[in-house]
Amino acid sequence: MSESCLFCRIACGEIPAKIAGQDDQVVAFHDVDPKAPTHVLIVPREHIPSVDAMAAGHAELLARMVQTAQKIAREVGADRSGYRLVFNHGPDAGQSVEHVHLHLLAGRKMTWPPG
Ligand code: AMP
Repeated sequence: MSESCLFCRIACGEIPAKIAGQDDQVVAFHDVDPKAPTHVLIVPREHIPSVDAMAAGHAELLARMVQTAQKIAREVGADRSGYRLVFNHGPDAGQSVEHVHLHLLAGRKMTWPPG
């Protein structure tokens, strides 16, 4: 845990968030500024600054993050209607929080390519 990291502090319950799911490895919570009717962030409990810092040793954790997104998507019926999973890394992608997070976006038609 990094004391100065917003998502570490949410993951350990120090800062409140609307929790969508959690287990021993990951916490999922609703984005405070949603870009779709369903916008959930899936974060590891471990502090990892970005998807770019993930390595082969994180394979199980990455799978758990995707499984958590799948579960939440099923709960809102988005496994049928569709959903998007996004990792932003660095300034060009607009990463604003330096703790890796998987965006789950669903509940509306999305455009491609993204802006
Ligand atoms: P990114 O731009 O990919 O780094 O995504 C960071 C996301 O975190 C943005 O969509 C923000 O709206 C979201 N966010 C920032 N602070 C909070 C918070 N306290 N609770 C929930 N989501 C947050």
